Amino acid sequence: MKNKILAFHTLGCKLNYSETASIAKHLQDAGYKVADFRDRADIYVINSCTVTRNAEKRCRELIRKARRNNPEAQVIIMGCYSQVNPEELTDISGVSMVLGNKGKFDLAARLAALPDTGVKPPSGKERLDTFVPAFSSDDRTRSFFKIQDGCDYTCTYCTIPRARGRSRSNTIRETLETARQIAGSDIKEVVLTGVNIGDFGKPHGESFFELLQNLAEMEELERIRLSSIEPDLLSDDIIGLVAAEPRLMPHFHIPLQSGSNAILEAMGRKYDRELFAGRVDKIRELLPYACIAADVITGFPGETEALFMESHDFIKAADLSYIHVFPYSERENTKASRMKDHVAPGVIRERSQKLQALSQEKKKKFVQANQGRKENVLWEKENLHGNMYGFTENYIRVKAPYDESKCNTIETVELNITDDRGVYIINP
Ligand code: SF4
Repeated sequence: MKNKILAFHTLGCKLNYSETASIAKHLQDAGYKVADFRDRADIYVINSCTVTRNAEKRCRELIRKARRNNPEAQVIIMGCYSQVNPEELTDISGVSMVLGNKGKFDLAARLAALPDTGVKPPSGKERLDTFVPAFSSDDRTRSFFKIQDGCDYTCTYCTIPRARGRSRSNTIRETLETARQIAGSDIKEVVLTGVNIGDFGKPHGESFFELLQNLAEMEELERIRLSSIEPDLLSDDIIGLVAAEPRLMPHFHIPLQSGSNAILEAMGRKYDRELFAGRVDKIRELLPYACIAADVITGFPGETEALFMESHDFIKAADLSYIHVFPYSERENTKASRMKDHVAPGVIRERSQKLQALSQEKKKKFVQANQGRKENVLWEKENLHGNMYGFTENYIRVKAPYDESKCNTIETVELNITDDRGVYIINP
């Protein structure tokens, strides 16, 4: 089996990327060759996502693509789609094995046991009761560092708790050990990743704030960036710590989902818009130039034109750097799917466009507000048409003429001129 060539493709979130990277590295260390998914391979592995219908459709397209690449190949589906609907995937011709969010970490052993006969091993919904750490290291500049998994919240539109299980994590001591492994591989920035990272530590009586305090003391880690954190879990202590600790990046991604309290209640969210606004104000008070991004769902059942405009106007007034807009995607077996007053697809599209236009305005204003400031940039390694790129601490994109000696280094630059996409140009 080990002389077989594997190819991986990941759908979905940073958490999925960190897990695919860890699983692929484990198999490479075990002697497998890993090829690009576009190339011919013996075994194609797709780490799937179930957040939207589109994500599932994309997975089925990739199965067909893999089979076209090599009709003899075995195709393995793992991850969230496999966890919530293994039968549907098992029935697809060409799929050799289906592994959920536990079985995927056992891929090496499952591959060794995979019969060439085409008989599909049984698949079923797996018990998600263990935490398996993971991190990506293929980027060499930044690592998606999985610190938490699962979610205990019950948002009415969301299937993630069914796909990922209850909230769980390792202890702070174990998490620091993994962080040292990452730091040892010359990676300059870690992005703390999970499903509900603010809930880190609950099974062990520890907290996300305590983890951040410990990570901020690790000299080996130069930059620590938070991925998405729930507004009700973003405490004053965490904001204060980010303001006080130079290793913690002034960048917050906070899922708002709606600027209407009526819709937030229907979504089963654990806060109201006043709490969210209070978080933004606190950040701006301590970190005026921080990047504050938010996720927003539009077209949730019951979102009348008036409630949409209430949400739109709240977002317009909020001092955000940009927003990610998600058209409501109905998921089976969710409370929201059984709600009345679903919004017509055309209206959802219109509203998404309105919010995206608002996001562009905010992004432009945020980038311009940084003109003339000095920022530390982490240069990435790619040479893209003679240019290299990087992000500032407050997540602004910059570019400069490619210089190999600067790859994976941190440089203080002055932000003056932007190109037509709002990317700052250094040493033009
Ligand atoms: S917090 Fe809500 S939206 Fe996020 S994963 Fe948990 S249930 Fe889903």
